[in-house]
Amino acid sequence: MARLVLASSNRGKLAEFNELFADSGFEVVAQGSLGVGDAEETGLTFVENALIKARHAAQATGLPALADDSGLCVPHLGGAPGLYSARYSGGHGDAAANNAKLLRELEGVPAAQRGAFFICVLVLLRHAEDPAPLIAEGRWHGRILTEGRGSGGFGYNPVFLPDGYGQSVAEMDSALKNRLSHRGQALAQLHARLAERGLALSEL
Ligand code: IMP
Repeated sequence: MARLVLASSNRGKLAEFNELFADSGFEVVAQGSLGVGDAEETGLTFVENALIKARHAAQATGLPALADDSGLCVPHLGGAPGLYSARYSGGHGDAAANNAKLLRELEGVPAAQRGAFFICVLVLLRHAEDPAPLIAEGRWHGRILTEGRGSGGFGYNPVFLPDGYGQSVAEMDSALKNRLSHRGQALAQLHARLAERGLALSEL
């Protein structure tokens, strides 16, 4: 079976992408399993970093590559945590510290200015020099609570209240989250883009 390299070592993402490509004739393999390390994320936007990661994986393997980049943006804070979502408080992946810092930054800020969105950008490169990558983006809008609620999932889930719902993301069941989320939306868009092109993965 032809292979597509995923520029991530996250197992959850690998499973999601393998489902997406189930009928495509492609097997999605994590870059780590091909001996490829992480790219340096030097971009200033999610789309730049997703492109850098995909290009790095395509270059190192000679395979078509898929990358994603995601995070949380709070317009009242100029878009922070933004690209630095995973390490907002300093240490990489310390969700409790990141949430505490975000709540501190927004202390006393009224509900109307606590709007926020999660964003996920997906990039599919046919090869390292592909001049026309397939790019999909999902955004999930809501606002930042004044204190965390629930314990499901990861990252900023406890402090994010999606528009139209009375539960934080950490209080939602994962099937509902996957249907509504920035990642779910971006995956659906990538799927639609591929279908529009007659799922021309065979021509990658
Ligand atoms: P990455 O794209 O996996 O590097 O995610 C970047 C960071 O954004 C994560 O470490 C989380 O802090 C945050 N993030 C992205 N998506 C979500 C989500 O669905 N829930 C909570 N936090 C998220």
